[in-house]
Amino acid sequence: MTRILVIGGGIAGTATALALHKAGFDVTVHEAHPDTAEDIGAFLTLASNGMRALAQLDASDVVTALGFPLRSMRVLDSQGGEMAHVPLGEADDELLRYRCLRRGELNAALQAEVHRRGIRLSHGARLVSIENGPDSVTARFADGSIATADLLIGADGLNSTVRRSLALGAAAVYAGQSVFYGYTRSTPAAEDTGHITMVRGSTAAFGYAVSPDGETYWFARVAGDAVPADELAHPTPSRWREQLVEMLGKDATPAANIVAASTDDLMATNATEIPLGTAWRSGRTLIIGDAAHAASPATGQGASMALEDAVILAKSLRDTPELDSALSLYEACRRPRVEHNITASGEISRGTRAPSRAGGAPPSQRPGDDTLNHQLDWDLDMRTSAGQME
Ligand SMILES: Cc1cc2nc3c(=O)[nH]c(=O)nc-3n(C[C@H](O)[C@H](O)[C@H](O)COP(=O)(O)OP(=O)(O)OC[C@H]3O[C@@H](n4cnc5c(N)ncnc54)[C@H](O)[C@@H]3O)c2cc1C
Repeated sequence: MTRILVIGGGIAGTATALALHKAGFDVTVHEAHPDTAEDIGAFLTLASNGMRALAQLDASDVVTALGFPLRSMRVLDSQGGEMAHVPLGEADDELLRYRCLRRGELNAALQAEVHRRGIRLSHGARLVSIENGPDSVTARFADGSIATADLLIGADGLNSTVRRSLALGAAAVYAGQSVFYGYTRSTPAAEDTGHITMVRGSTAAFGYAVSPDGETYWFARVAGDAVPADELAHPTPSRWREQLVEMLGKDATPAANIVAASTDDLMATNATEIPLGTAWRSGRTLIIGDAAHAASPATGQGASMALEDAVILAKSLRDTPELDSALSLYEACRRPRVEHNITASGEISRGTRAPSRAGGAPPSQRPGDDTLNHQLDWDLDMRTSAGQME
């Protein structure tokens, strides 16, 4: 049986472990973090394509137990006027509709599912180097331990050690926006739950959604210089709140009041992306998820893309007997789609593309995409699905 090492127990790594295990491979996950995983406390939305990938892994229940569903999106202009109110993704399907949830909770739930299915996942295992041999690949960890396998999957995120140690490409670059996230239970907007509101403000792109128990989740994407690394390492929530309230208060929308009412559970990050054309493979090693194709968060597709990677990689390995051909098949299916997302999301972040009224997702990420649905369908042979691309 093919032995596979997965480096990183984040969203891509855990979902890939579930998929590889389902396909019958011998898989082990090595996660650097000593308990669950790195988490900066932000929330995210899983889109219908991500929920479809989870369903193929029989993991829908794990995720629908968390967060809350989003059925539609309202778009407001800078004066608070409603420009649009449209359904989101596969809103009528209970398993496939969009979901808003905290990133850390999603990650912890996927890790728990990996354990529940009896897949090995070790914590505190920080990869430091890789040796690609003709017949096997060896991973070395910071604690001096080593592990050997037939294939190594680097799912170790934006600042991937796997990508760096195999010189697979340039580092991630700043995409022109800093992003702030926060929460409040005093809901000045007094909104119903079930939809996300996107505010096309004059100074920032702002979004918020209210959970069924009355907590407002919000983000603000602000163009300009990146938040300096020392400020990210030593957060200044009250200063960020003041600056955002002043900036958002220039418009007549609910945004400034929501931020003003927020707790200190406020965080910042810089929108970052992997340059197009970054190599994904070297010998018996492949990078996936953010390590391979992190995009700025404007289209809200990073986690969903990672979940798609997991299903399509496992199917490619399952249905193609020879390793190199399987990895070529995977890359041929994935690269056009994820690079389209990097480009579209980066253009929205840099202000050179207007977000669509349907949520900013490019057409290829909307429901009804037959090629994608075919590629994700667990019961269909991946080689036939790939043939559909031609
Ligand atoms: C603030 C924020 C908001 C976002 N919002 C959205 C959204 O709304 N919708 C959406 O779809 N996506 C969103 N994303 C993107 C999404 O979170 C990522 O695309 C997704 O988490 C990628 O998963 P990953 O597993 O590839 O990487 P990560 O989640 O970063 O996981 C990488 C894992 O590898 C581990 N690791 C790192 N180095 C090593 C090492 N040397 N050895 C072993 N383990 C290692 C880390 O501890 C981590 O657990 C957002 C991202 C951020 C940062």
